[in-house]
Amino acid sequence: MAKVGAPEKLITKDGLRLDGRRLDEPRPVKLEVGILKRADGSAYIEQGRNKILAAVYGPRELHPRHLQKPDTALVRCRYNMSPFSVPERRRPGPDRRTIEISKVAREAFEQAIFAEHYPRAGIDIFIEVLEADAGTRCAGITAASLALADAGIPMKDLVSAIAVGKIDGQVVLDLTGIEDNYGQTDMPVAMMPRRNEITLLQMDGHFTSEEFEQALELAIKGCKILYEKQREALKTKYGGP
Ligand code: ADP
Repeated sequence: MAKVGAPEKLITKDGLRLDGRRLDEPRPVKLEVGILKRADGSAYIEQGRNKILAAVYGPRELHPRHLQKPDTALVRCRYNMSPFSVPERRRPGPDRRTIEISKVAREAFEQAIFAEHYPRAGIDIFIEVLEADAGTRCAGITAASLALADAGIPMKDLVSAIAVGKIDGQVVLDLTGIEDNYGQTDMPVAMMPRRNEITLLQMDGHFTSEEFEQALELAIKGCKILYEKQREALKTKYGGP
């Protein structure tokens, strides 16, 4: 049954989405590296109507000391949504959703960072959502990956992330808020594109196994597009080939 206030269709007769995109087309992305002076590394992303800042501190000596690990760094992540990031003021402070996203984002990076190079240290990743329109965990991970690179933290590869989903029964790339709300499925994916390793995969809704294969392929394609943009943003800041 259609939800109250739902648009009649999310895909129009000509096969385009409400914002004019093709089914396999990501939203426009703008990336900027190194925009905060006091963080060791930082980045900003606009993806569609999402606006997100990422900052990294570390590696630095970890306090309290009992949290230190003798053979590796402790990676921590905090994803936060500002009260003004969504249409109705969000109550400040952590909730179940932000705690979950902080955990999965940390896990997406733990596999990429050479944490063992920094025993007893701490690496702190902050993702601050200023404006949200779906896909913020993915856009936050894409930006945080650049902030980690900006902080000079060695990684196996950059991490790129994008969501795929199902709307009006069709598999599509990079859902907007309205598509996420009124669609059937949302599947955020993060990966290290050059290594072809997935570091986050979640699913809200259902796919048939064929749809899942198609969606995963589309997510990988989306991550590879973002990966090129991440590399360009790093080149803009640091130059190089
Ligand atoms: P993601 O942002 O990673 O897609 P969700 O699927 O949980 O995460 O959220 C989808 C979108 O729903 C968010 O990007 C945001 O636009 C909106 N949203 C999330 N939490 C809230 C909230 N507390 N109030 C209003 N909108 C919210």
